Amino acid sequence: MTKNQELILKRLQEVYKDLGCALRFKNPFELLVATILSAQATDKQVNKVTLSLFAKYPDAFAIANLTEEELANEIKSIGLYKNKSKNILASSKIIAEQYGGLVPPDREILESLPGVGRKTANVVLSNAFGIPALAVDTHVFRVSNRLGLVDCANVECTEKNLCAIIPKEYWSQAHHWLIWHGRLFCKARNPLCERCKLNDLCPSYLK
Ligand code: SF4
Repeated sequence: MTKNQELILKRLQEVYKDLGCALRFKNPFELLVATILSAQATDKQVNKVTLSLFAKYPDAFAIANLTEEELANEIKSIGLYKNKSKNILASSKIIAEQYGGLVPPDREILESLPGVGRKTANVVLSNAFGIPALAVDTHVFRVSNRLGLVDCANVECTEKNLCAIIPKEYWSQAHHWLIWHGRLFCKARNPLCERCKLNDLCPSYLK
């Protein structure tokens, strides 16, 4: 790790240490469903939908009993809801029938569930089970490349290289630091470089 990368990580930690996962969840199953729903949707939209969904259907067994149309109707304010309904239903059935209704803390099993890729598995492993993992979403990818923490063309390379420079015990937190920085300052279009608390360290400042 270079000196500048070390300073950037320290600064991110100072600025965002009190911010964590913005998705609301009470257990690993709720987080899994919320994370599947969160693709191309805001956390605010997802929290609104899951609050009402889990009040009516509190676990994998209850959701597995719905039809695809019934579930789609519950989540229809979220983008790509038809596809997400199909995946959540199929995943809930597997969790209810094969794992006693409990999400297994196992990457291989998680990634075999419909609609669950590496990023979703990493979010669930780290936030619901406390297993070190660094999920790379669009914010983490963009911000870590702009800050020069990595120099990568894809998310796989970004995850591998971030994990190489960040101590394991900080992987989960670093994911949140980078997401919050991307949401609040380092936006995809028109990043707020002049107000950014890392601009003295950033190689992409005003570029
Ligand atoms: S200076 Fe600009 S590009 Fe660099 S991290 Fe801050 S907002 Fe992003």
